[in-house]
Amino acid sequence: MLAIIYINIYILIPWLVTGLIRKRFSSIIKRNGCICLTFDDGPDPGSTPQILELLNTAGTKATFFLLGENAEKYPDIVRKIVDTGHEIGDHSYRHTHAWKCNPFQSVVDLIRGGRTIEKYRKSKEPILFRPPYGKLNLATLMYTFFARKRMAFWNVDPKDYQQHSGKIVADYVIERISRGSVILLHDGRRNMASSPDVTVSGVRLILEAVIGKGLTLNTLSEAITGNS
Ligand SMILES: [Zn+2]
Repeated sequence: MLAIIYINIYILIPWLVTGLIRKRFSSIIKRNGCICLTFDDGPDPGSTPQILELLNTAGTKATFFLLGENAEKYPDIVRKIVDTGHEIGDHSYRHTHAWKCNPFQSVVDLIRGGRTIEKYRKSKEPILFRPPYGKLNLATLMYTFFARKRMAFWNVDPKDYQQHSGKIVADYVIERISRGSVILLHDGRRNMASSPDVTVSGVRLILEAVIGKGLTLNTLSEAITGNS
């Protein structure tokens, strides 16, 4: 009985609320007619510099949701992301799963991640926050509400971390891309199976297709505010 109450209050209610926030997020991006490339779990020396080079050569912007622990390991890459005009967002410090952690651990991970990333930002606008795995529990939901975090999700997910070729990633994205798409890719790997080269070659093909179709990419903040 206690377990059912716990699951309902700690997980189910936040899951329902997160679903509503997520729906609203997608409808705002669609209304503003933007397309965004987003990268999670970095920075990583094995892929972030190559991705930056591709984006900068294409003259386009992206949003990087950084893990605090990786930002501390690779501060020069974070500075390079910011200095070349891309946006950085907060993705927690250690990527804790909100449903598998107690309230204290999960909130501390968000606070620590937010503080780490904030040091590198130039903008005074509220920082975007993407919850690890897209999940929140009751404690992290309340924290994000009271800390006025600007929530960021995605709606195109090629699962690049488990694919074995960049072409599979790119084909999945290109088939679905339209105004309102927020594409989720990973420059960080976090011990996952696939090579970082899969994402790098996928980005190369996606950018070629985007340019070929005459589409423009925006940062996620531009897509949310409509100021591009
Ligand atoms: Zn992540």
